[in-house]
Amino acid sequence: MDLDFSPKLVALKATVDNVIEHHIAPLASRVDQEALWPAHSMKALAEAGLMGLQVPVAQGGHGQGLLALAVMTEAISKACPSSALCFGMHCVGTAVIAAKATPYQQEHYLQAIAAGKHLTTLALSESGSGAHFYVPATRIDMNGQFFTVTGVKQFVTNGGQADSYVLSTVASGEESESGDFNCLIVDGQAEGLQWQAPWNGFGMRGNSSCALKLDGVQVPMSNLLGEPGDQVWYVFEVVAPFFLMAMAGTYLGIAQAALDAAGEQLRARHYEHSGETLREIETLQTRYASMWIALEKTRSLVREAARRGDRGDPDALPFILACKADAGETAVMLANEAMTLCGGAAYRENSRVAQMLRDARASHVMSPTTDLLKLWTGRCLLGLPLL
Ligand SMILES: Cc1cc2nc3c(=O)[nH]c(=O)nc-3n(C[C@H](O)[C@H](O)[C@H](O)COP(=O)(O)OP(=O)(O)OC[C@H]3O[C@@H](n4cnc5c(N)ncnc54)[C@H](O)[C@@H]3O)c2cc1C
Repeated sequence: MDLDFSPKLVALKATVDNVIEHHIAPLASRVDQEALWPAHSMKALAEAGLMGLQVPVAQGGHGQGLLALAVMTEAISKACPSSALCFGMHCVGTAVIAAKATPYQQEHYLQAIAAGKHLTTLALSESGSGAHFYVPATRIDMNGQFFTVTGVKQFVTNGGQADSYVLSTVASGEESESGDFNCLIVDGQAEGLQWQAPWNGFGMRGNSSCALKLDGVQVPMSNLLGEPGDQVWYVFEVVAPFFLMAMAGTYLGIAQAALDAAGEQLRARHYEHSGETLREIETLQTRYASMWIALEKTRSLVREAARRGDRGDPDALPFILACKADAGETAVMLANEAMTLCGGAAYRENSRVAQMLRDARASHVMSPTTDLLKLWTGRCLLGLPLL
């Protein structure tokens, strides 16, 4: 446990560890094998009072920031990465709603989230702009008391399961420029939401990622988040830091699980011909040490980024941009190393280590992708505009 955790975070971590042990870990391999959306995990997290992690205290939530998000997603992901992704996207959606919530949005969304009665998620990606999620083509038209929303969102985590979806849109007639969009809350029960065939992922198989077609969906004007013109503020102040921290925690959890799996195998496996265990072999000791060093370096970066972000340090941005890229690379590298160190036990179809490697690979394609994040980190450090 990090000695600098607040008493509140220590208590939240103990609560989530209990949920993981009794509810999330026991069903983790079924989630992967059956591409099962982890309803059991979301229910248990809700019953433990954890869904309002990012809801302000005034609305009944825990009022936590980036550090808590990274710590909680890491813990969940160590047992079940899909559950961490689903919980993480709920937390990111919550943070976006909370950033400039009106009294109506506080009452209808944040208080329900804090009470564990409402699941939300983020729907930004579109096939037309791919990894460049900040250039949506989904359009809104003003229509009396309503906005009419038309477009198709791709890869919506918690797709078809959430009570609301936080969407990015552009006003009809505007030419969309980078970062130029509005955020809206669309209720899961709204008429005109058409869920497309489920996406059958290589990894993160339980996240219920689906495409969502919005065909003239009417959304009350009260569901607009912030003011028109707030878009860039939302992208860089809320969406990016919360998303990057949720994902950095998720991939850190996979990296820790890979290290643990390798350590267990190195201790347990011994040869009959020599009586030697794998852990007595120098090459493997060295490789295991390299895994541990990479993990601890990544965790230090993630926690440093989270703390700087929570304090509002003016130089937090490059740390925050770098941490998901680094956590993704560390997770892939450690899962790959664990696959080697664990030998034939790991290199069988659907082994636990194989699942780690498949889940870790999602990091490089989930936007902002590793390449985009390194590009932005470099630009930020060199005093250039990110986009
Ligand atoms: C498991 C999973 C869950 C997801 N959940 C969500 C979600 O909840 N909500 C949501 O909105 N989206 C979600 N996404 C979508 C994700 O964030 C990306 O938008 C999507 O994966 C991009 O896929 P694509 O094939 O269109 O990528 P493409 O845009 O085709 O990119 C392909 C590759 O090219 C690279 N590339 C493109 N342009 C550049 C450039 N200028 N410089 C360097 N490299 C570049 C990208 O980095 C990427 O590696 C999810 C994706 C996955 C895999």
